[in-house]
Amino acid sequence: MIEIYNTLTKKKEEFKPITPNKVSMYVCGPTVYNFIHIGNARPMIVFDTVRRYFMYKGYEVNYVSNFTDVDDKIIKAAIEEGVDSEEISTRYIAECRKDMADMNILPATRNPQATQEIEGMINMIQILIDKGYAYPVSDGTVYYRTRKFDGYGKLSHKNIEDLEGGHRDIKVTGDLKEDPLDFVLWKPKKEGEPSWPSPWCDGRPGWHIECSVMSKRYLGDTIDIHAGGEDLIFPHHENEIAQSEAANGVPFAHYWMHNAFLNINNKKMSKSLGNFFTVREISEKYDLQVLRFFMLTAHYRNPLNFSAELMESAKAGLDRILTGAERLKDLIEQADETDLSSAEMAGLQESEKFTIQFEKAMDDDFNTADAITAIFDFVKFLNTNTDENSSKAYLTGLHDSLWRLADVLGLILDREEENLDDEIEELIQERQDARKNKDFAKADEIRDKLLAMGIVLEDTREGVKWKRA
Ligand code: AMP
Ligand code: ZN
Repeated sequence: MIEIYNTLTKKKEEFKPITPNKVSMYVCGPTVYNFIHIGNARPMIVFDTVRRYFMYKGYEVNYVSNFTDVDDKIIKAAIEEGVDSEEISTRYIAECRKDMADMNILPATRNPQATQEIEGMINMIQILIDKGYAYPVSDGTVYYRTRKFDGYGKLSHKNIEDLEGGHRDIKVTGDLKEDPLDFVLWKPKKEGEPSWPSPWCDGRPGWHIECSVMSKRYLGDTIDIHAGGEDLIFPHHENEIAQSEAANGVPFAHYWMHNAFLNINNKKMSKSLGNFFTVREISEKYDLQVLRFFMLTAHYRNPLNFSAELMESAKAGLDRILTGAERLKDLIEQADETDLSSAEMAGLQESEKFTIQFEKAMDDDFNTADAITAIFDFVKFLNTNTDENSSKAYLTGLHDSLWRLADVLGLILDREEENLDDEIEELIQERQDARKNKDFAKADEIRDKLLAMGIVLEDTREGVKWKRA
């Protein structure tokens, strides 16, 4: 039984899927105006691990995570560089995908982009207007009528009176909204900004409506899990609930999961304080497996401090696991195909306790810190309970269990092979580019090079596939 801490109820609850053996999950993704920073990497790694654990438990996971590709920060970056917004977002989506691959984050079932979903947003806004939950004003802005939604505040556990108090001193002169609590669904364009036609004005969507629409389109009106960093609880997720539940008339998400923040040297990460790292910067010094491992050494609901020393100790910890794994592989290579001895049979049985320990930790609201302890204990057991005389069957049994657990955390124990795979993928991409540029000599040269590496290419309808000859 998997228990999840649900921000909505402030309790750990047993996970009960809407459809047996299936999980629908929406994770708010990054705004793409720059390289992602290591704070953004935390929800990516944490919720990828949640997804992997569901898969390990036999669930089919439909995992949707968006890219916010229309936003003030993107527009600002575009103006600074003198290019259009799309160039900025396209560039940083590509860079983000590269970082995610290097952190061994499984590709999402879908990564919708806000700018491709405008029609759905206009439709949902129209439904909200028709139902009396939203209203356009004279300049073309459409606002959500917050007070009309009964459950407003249920996720962030704020009541409307407190929110009102917080807004009391905000100047409302010149403001066209009915109530300071109302938030924007659609806003008119300003000169030089990307915009789309709508029944209200040429403009662009507010941030919150994007996620309500993309979640509905790809996962349905009610989903199992909605997730993101804790800064999103209010107002982003609170507003998403108000929009989706008012428009669809059913609960939006059964479980709300939020990761705590990553700090640097115990301070909030901030560019102006100079304590700010992109994932790409970290990759210059470390294999991003180390960053992934580091993130998982803490429970996702605890704040996590990042420092040079803590990264070094994560590296040392991961190395201990990798060294144990390497030793096991070497033993397997030279082991005899003898039968399992009775002592080995008992050893295999005993080793099951590490899987049980691991699952117990993960069942308890995805406690990856304790799950890592189970892996350390497993490696210690391997180091003392295997040697040159162990049979292949015994070693392989242990190998398979350890690899299965490491895979839940997204830790790659077969490092060289993975690196080789990356290199092959890169060469294939280079060959594709060469063909696109009609440089067939270069394309053939790359094909020959791959052939020499024992890689055979096949052009299929879904693109180029490769296999080892
Ligand atoms: P943004 O691009 O700011 O919308 O953020 C994308 C995701 O990263 C959201 O889920 C944020 O909550 C999360 N996030 C941003 N900064 C941090 C941080 N320092 N620690 C943990 N999560 C963060
Ligand atoms: Zn969102």
